[in-house]
Amino acid sequence: MLPLVVVQEVRQLLDEKVLSHRKIANILGVSRGTVGAIASGRRGIYGSVPSSEEPTLCCFEMPPERCPGCGSRVYMPCVLCSARAYQQRRKQWQNIPSPRRVA
Ligand SMILES: [Zn+2]
Repeated sequence: MLPLVVVQEVRQLLDEKVLSHRKIANILGVSRGTVGAIASGRRGIYGSVPSSEEPTLCCFEMPPERCPGCGSRVYMPCVLCSARAYQQRRKQWQNIPSPRRVA
């Protein structure tokens, strides 16, 4: 989506009625179709705002939790416990004799 400031700039230049659609498109780096759509009112004055103003929620911004498996304060899911569970499953698979070897 186009940045809101660019859309507002297109609208302003159109209102000044000095530059052609093509000129405005070249200056602001948007397509002539976009300029035409804004001029005719087919496209509203909306756009993306800089990401710094948007609320961001990353998993590492949440407080760590007490892991029920190992008791450490970790970011869930606990990597240590999932690694241990994986190793345990591998050991169990290795302990199961393969039917072909037994026979
Ligand atoms: Zn854990």
